Amino acid sequence: MTKNYNVGIIGGGVSGVVIALEFAKYGIDSILFEQEKSVVNGPPFCHLHAGGNLYPDISDEQCKILMKQSIEMGRLFPQSIDKRPTFISVPKSEKYNIEQIINRLDTLVEYYKILIDKDPLNEILGTPEDYYKSYTKKDLITLAEQPTVKFPKTSDEWIINALKFIDYNKLKTPVILVQEYGWNLFRLAAQAQLAIEKTDKCNLKTNTTVTNIKDVRHLNLDYNWQIYTGDTVYGVNYLVNSSGFKTMELDASLRLNTKRLIEFKAAYISKWHPIPGLIPELIFHGERGTPHGMAQLTPYCDDFYQIHGMTMDITLFKEGLIQSKSNKTYPVFNADINRKLYLGWEEDDINTRTKNAIEFISEFMPAFKTATVGGPPLFGAQQIHGDDPSLRVGEVSFPYKSYARSEIIKASSALTVSNQILNKIEEEGIIPLIHNKTKYNVLLDSISKTEIDQMAFQFAIERGYPGALSRLIIENE
Ligand SMILES: Cc1cc2nc3c(=O)[nH]c(=O)nc-3n(C[C@H](O)[C@H](O)[C@H](O)COP(=O)(O)OP(=O)(O)OC[C@H]3O[C@@H](n4cnc5c(N)ncnc54)[C@H](O)[C@@H]3O)c2cc1C
Repeated sequence: MTKNYNVGIIGGGVSGVVIALEFAKYGIDSILFEQEKSVVNGPPFCHLHAGGNLYPDISDEQCKILMKQSIEMGRLFPQSIDKRPTFISVPKSEKYNIEQIINRLDTLVEYYKILIDKDPLNEILGTPEDYYKSYTKKDLITLAEQPTVKFPKTSDEWIINALKFIDYNKLKTPVILVQEYGWNLFRLAAQAQLAIEKTDKCNLKTNTTVTNIKDVRHLNLDYNWQIYTGDTVYGVNYLVNSSGFKTMELDASLRLNTKRLIEFKAAYISKWHPIPGLIPELIFHGERGTPHGMAQLTPYCDDFYQIHGMTMDITLFKEGLIQSKSNKTYPVFNADINRKLYLGWEEDDINTRTKNAIEFISEFMPAFKTATVGGPPLFGAQQIHGDDPSLRVGEVSFPYKSYARSEIIKASSALTVSNQILNKIEEEGIIPLIHNKTKYNVLLDSISKTEIDQMAFQFAIERGYPGALSRLIIENE
């Protein structure tokens, strides 16, 4: 046995790092295990989802939670938020009703006002009045005549630039521009890793795979769990399983078998020619899993664009959504997905799927046909607890005393999970009650933009992506 810790955290994804940093801020010592070389190196994220507007099918309640949690995370990691808005549209061929989307947006505006009333610093999405704006066909015809704005600031300017490329005759009107922002994982990873390296309260073990966990609560030792790595066993009082889609594998060590789904997905990196003015994120809604699922273009710096297409030829995969079965401890992907997940992608697959993605976007944006493959896909697997694949908010469960399992579906839920675990370890007496809880994290706040710029660039390159993906198109000073 080497050293005992109050808290052992398995998995240094967004969940694990936020838990470690929030605990460190209150002086709670932890050990954080991450099998990769650096933190936040699992499945990607690129949208903050502050309002859930990319999901027309989810409940208003989920949208509000996404908005609240996104604002909290945006305040913690401001240097990773790309404040470019999102253009939302429904092609004429699709079932979605724009009026319903607008009704939901009105609900969100009211909710955003409440969040700002509670704390004015929550106003990170612009003023509530500007949260969204809708555009009729007549507005579009007028704005399409206006000259491009190199660095758009108003909603109208963003729409003017988008209209230079979009075939809006294919879209229902009105269309919408909403303050749904991008979220840069390389920058969040950099800020988190730098902050963890600055504290002596968290022992970060990168390149370290946890191979087993043992429940020793009944042995009356001065720790409750043993965590096994290659050559060392660690003792911890409280165990946090934040290993993402691997959660079930570790649960299996404890003979826990919980109902959940795992989904493998990918987004593609393309490179286009320079254009005269920045464009917003573009969303063309469609029914998920059908050949006309949602098409989604995310702009990055230096003419790189990320594409999602919610069809089986682009973002989704045959047998890409699997479920735990009663006769197995945890589900396993097919050989093709496993190869992609653990060994990397074949060149042919990258080219075929990225070209499919470019073609898909070109249906609504014909000039985009000339885009080319810009890098390897961003891909990964994520867990969804229960059996509803459309669920977008997941938090935490406590299957045993002194054991927490993070079950986030969107990265924005990480702080909520951390707060819930903190409450639980106070309740269990693992730590004394904390009287002065604060939303600020001095460790994260102490990291400068320059430090983040440098490490985020290094992470992008090390992970095989263009360095430009580590920058924001709207710089955050
Ligand atoms: C293609 C795609 C696009 C997505 N886009 C978005 C988006 O735009 N916005 C959004 O909010 N969410 C998005 N998500 C979801 C998001 O990626 C997840 O919600 C989030 O990554 C989950 O974080 P986590 O920390 O719980 O788990 P993970 O990020 O999976 O982290 C788990 C960590 O544990 C480590 N680990 C696992 N097993 C072990 C072990 N035995 N020992 C040591 N380390 C271990 C892994 O290496 C990993 O780093 C997307 C997911 C995919 C697949």
